[in-house]
Amino acid sequence: MVARTGISNARLDAELLLSHALNKNRAWLITHSGDLLDEDQCRRFQASVSRRVKHEPVQYILGTQEFWGLEFAVTPDVLIPRPETELVVESTLHAAAGNPSPLILDLCTGSGCIAVSLAKEVPAARVFAADMSATALALARENARRHGVSDHIRFLEGDLFGPLEELDIKERVDIIAANPPYIPSRDLPVLQPEVRDYEPVMALIAGPGGTEIHRRIIETAPDFLKKGGALIMEMGLGQADRLCRLVEGAGAYTAPEILKDLAGIERVIVAHRR
Ligand code: GLN
Repeated sequence: MVARTGISNARLDAELLLSHALNKNRAWLITHSGDLLDEDQCRRFQASVSRRVKHEPVQYILGTQEFWGLEFAVTPDVLIPRPETELVVESTLHAAAGNPSPLILDLCTGSGCIAVSLAKEVPAARVFAADMSATALALARENARRHGVSDHIRFLEGDLFGPLEELDIKERVDIIAANPPYIPSRDLPVLQPEVRDYEPVMALIAGPGGTEIHRRIIETAPDFLKKGGALIMEMGLGQADRLCRLVEGAGAYTAPEILKDLAGIERVIVAHRR
């Protein structure tokens, strides 16, 4: 049924949904493949399959997504964490190496996946995580609690650096990490239905060009970064040149570096404040 509706990985999704309905793992399914479902299990499974055939992402149905080896709660209020975003975490850890208690900002925190992963990895780090969505922040807080790092992350509601203005952290930040929205508005209609119809538009779309939010971050980040501090941002396919030009044009950074993800796509820009 799932396969016939044009869902890729239909078998895997069906297994994930069945495991969820039975509250068992996938290994259990294999060893109990001859078992019959009771009525309740059957109803639960069918309910989740009928959501999936309408292209709802399996993660929203299960309510979770793994990122950086940790399980994150996800709802339609937040972007589902993507594996390529782990490169932001990795680059941030690299930039923080040798500093046991870095001051880190995570802008557009969404589910909090970047902030929480960093707080887990660097227990003495001070992390500020901001987002303009109150419902996303509530979930990010839940994820911080889930992973025992609530005391290490301060969550702030507002637009980019807006809520950070009143804190006394200007020119004191070691690293600003962000996975901002980066899809150009005209691409919305051609996105996969899973993304287009279910993930929050606010977390996906930046504006007509796709790099509007990056541009704003590049402009303001130097006010917050200490000398040598790093700005680390995820980007979309084909945006590297434009972002390098913006960083160079800002006049506040040394030459930017572009990192490729596992698929070989230019995915992360790293720029240090002069
Ligand atoms: N920081 C979150 C993530 O990387 C959310 C990003 C966003 O909403 N644009 O998944």
